[in-house]
Amino acid sequence: MEFETKCLHAGYTPENGEPRVLPIVQSTTYTYDSTESIGKLFDLEESGFFYTRLANPTTSAVEEKLAALEEGVGALCTASGQSATFYALLNILESGDHFVSSAYIYGGTYNLFAHTLKKMGIEVTFVDQSAPLEELSKAIRPNTKAVFGESIANPAMHVLDIEKFAQLAHDHDLPLLVDNTFATPYFCQPFKYGADIVIHSTTKYLDGHAVATGGVIIDGGHFDWNNGKFPQLSKPDETYHGIVYTETFGPAAYITKARVQLMRDLGATPAPQNSFYLNLGLETLPLRMDRHYENALKVAQFIQSQPSVTKVTYPGLADDANFALKEKYLPKGLCGVISFEIAAGRAAAAKWLDALELVSLEVHVADIRTCALHPATSTHRQMSDEELTAAGISPGMIRISCGIENIEDILADLTQAFQTLEG
Ligand SMILES: *Cc1c(COP(=O)(O)O)cnc(C)c1O
Repeated sequence: MEFETKCLHAGYTPENGEPRVLPIVQSTTYTYDSTESIGKLFDLEESGFFYTRLANPTTSAVEEKLAALEEGVGALCTASGQSATFYALLNILESGDHFVSSAYIYGGTYNLFAHTLKKMGIEVTFVDQSAPLEELSKAIRPNTKAVFGESIANPAMHVLDIEKFAQLAHDHDLPLLVDNTFATPYFCQPFKYGADIVIHSTTKYLDGHAVATGGVIIDGGHFDWNNGKFPQLSKPDETYHGIVYTETFGPAAYITKARVQLMRDLGATPAPQNSFYLNLGLETLPLRMDRHYENALKVAQFIQSQPSVTKVTYPGLADDANFALKEKYLPKGLCGVISFEIAAGRAAAAKWLDALELVSLEVHVADIRTCALHPATSTHRQMSDEELTAAGISPGMIRISCGIENIEDILADLTQAFQTLEG
């Protein structure tokens, strides 16, 4: 099946007389005929449903669809993007281990890496992703267990050189984990460039309608976990009668362990209702992403032409620093998020946002409705202009997430907002 067809049909094939639309199985439990058959489930000898924390038919169908879209061997849905990132790392790292991450990452991921994982004894080194390979290699230590990056960084909008990062990881027998949230598998499939594990906050474009938080981990199935660095996967797990994940589950060892061990013990499972919403969103992903890109490119060009704007960051613009990487890794398009700077600073940026009528002020991106945010008066409002600048955010910076409305209506709203800054 082609990508668009998988969005509609992968993961769920109804049989004679069954519902055409993926049903919501709103049940925590499942019932069995014998103690023997339930015993086999607990010993992982048979697959099946026994408790919704571990697996649910609605969620499983969506997992199968997501694995098909990224062309991986399996997927695990989680309650949020944050829990997906957390589990993806915790699946192979423990206290005393270290990993390397691009410095251009989502703020929540930064906090998880720099503070919460640190408290658990897992250390991170942040690197400048534009540095050459030899420079990046210096960050690798004997106890390094993974390399991490975002295919399109939120909110910096830098494009990751996935092949370079895959080489950095593989030269040292390490897996590359890529957060593919902003790109979506429609525009970029990191496994094709050497990534080993893909993560998404499905809260963003995959759902797309801003109705449900969620995350997913997808396993590419190619990494050799038997290379001596990952005893969690290649040595017996006593909590499952000494099962060895790489022996029993082969290419799906990593994703199976994440489910049967981490989801069992930590339990950030998605609600079946939310999996249903996610599935609805996935059905129209290609149509929405084409429109987000088409609109964002026009909005970026329009903003660039405004005298009150100093800088526009959107890798789809031919003069953007990341344009060449965008052409290589995202030839068909990009997400709808643009950042730009109002030259006159914090107060002028606030005035511009307050003038918007159609475009809403939201602490969100990737909505089908166009929305905008001014970090200096919202998420970063406690910071002075000097502190903001040190954090790489200028006081006049605005992030706009272009939706799928008619472009003329979006441009008309932006035009009248820019007019309030004139004279
Ligand atoms: C939003 C986001 C996350 C976190 O996801 P939640 O669903 O909000 O927990 C992680 N990575 C990126 C790139 C994001 O944009």
